[in-house]
Amino acid sequence: MKHVNLKILLSLLLISLPLLCVSMAWADGALNTNALTMGASPAASLSELHLPSVTPTMLQYSRIRYGLYFFSVVYSVGVLMLIMQTGLSTRLRDYSIKTNRNKALQVVLYSLLLSLLIALLSLPLSFFSGFYLEQWFKLSDQSLLSWLTDRGKAICVSAVLSSFCLLIFFGVVRRFRTHWPILLWLIMIPFFALGIFAEPIVIDPLFNKFAPMEQNGLKSKITDLAVKARIPNAVILVADKSKQTNKMNAYVTGLSGSSRIVLWDSTIAKLPEDQVLAVVGHEIGHYVLGHVYLDFILIVSVSLVFVPVAYLFANSFISILPKNWQIGSINDYAITPVLLALTLLIGFATMPLINAWSRYQEHQADEFGLNLTGNRLAMANLFVSFAEKNLSEPDPPPIIKFWLFSHPTLKERIEFAAGRKVE
Ligand SMILES: [Zn+2]
Repeated sequence: MKHVNLKILLSLLLISLPLLCVSMAWADGALNTNALTMGASPAASLSELHLPSVTPTMLQYSRIRYGLYFFSVVYSVGVLMLIMQTGLSTRLRDYSIKTNRNKALQVVLYSLLLSLLIALLSLPLSFFSGFYLEQWFKLSDQSLLSWLTDRGKAICVSAVLSSFCLLIFFGVVRRFRTHWPILLWLIMIPFFALGIFAEPIVIDPLFNKFAPMEQNGLKSKITDLAVKARIPNAVILVADKSKQTNKMNAYVTGLSGSSRIVLWDSTIAKLPEDQVLAVVGHEIGHYVLGHVYLDFILIVSVSLVFVPVAYLFANSFISILPKNWQIGSINDYAITPVLLALTLLIGFATMPLINAWSRYQEHQADEFGLNLTGNRLAMANLFVSFAEKNLSEPDPPPIIKFWLFSHPTLKERIEFAAGRKVE
């Protein structure tokens, strides 16, 4: 690490480009694969059920998405290292010190400028994956202006949150030179809880409108499911996601008073009623089984592992950083890009573990939903619809499932719903 130079960093960025090309070529190769079983959906009975047709378009889209994930990790780490190696981080720090006397304002200004710089350098990648790819595969009709507006809002939200986090991080590190790791962990717990609580009521409404469902036949059937699951007062809202995407989804979010089940309007518009009820059954499963709370407890507990690591290795880590980065200690906020890169790499390395946990929870929610609705055919047809309309590969390569899949594969979910092997 001591001899990292610009050439190596640029090479890192260049290496990531072939990675994307390999994934594109792989996706192209997939175009020559014949479609597998041609199943008509929705099936009228469980005996007529088939796996969804694996079309060339579905394979191409799925595989570009997998490649983009790995590419984005290398690209993002490369961008952060480039910011260090070119001295941009120290220049931003020096500028913030020169223009402000107040130490807190210095950190905030540095953080805002750094966020803007990272957003600009990442724009080509976010444009390709967030806009171009979705338009290419007709998964979105959003205008460029609308996408840029959403992107701008996301950058502002991220800049404000980052400033807040850095203010706390460096405030604690500077005041408590020895015991900052355990103090940061303790302080993180209430702020993390507050973040999960506030997200659906403060941040999500910046991007979408959330409204209660209209009173109709579907609403009363959903209410019946909620009563049956003993959560008659659960908040169930519809989000106007169709302005951003043609995909379908639903999710559970929030803590305590902000807990809610959210259905995308595209899910309600594109699926037959029995499949919408299958989606709702699954989400009620997450809600009743308290998965948001369990995730919170798990993340807080697992992050405790990093406390002794920080005690033991923080100083020696600083000493191995290249001297031209001009980072004397962990107190220096110009180190932020290095910390971000470390966080990204830890996230990447622990992804299989996190996803294994998530797949377990998703299966639990499927089991709960199936017990609640008792409709195997609707649930199996739902997963066929997900594959076809979201262009999700039903049976991805094992390494992709291991690393990237937060849900069981759609083939596994269809077979679980059907209660038998499906070809
Ligand atoms: Zn789920």
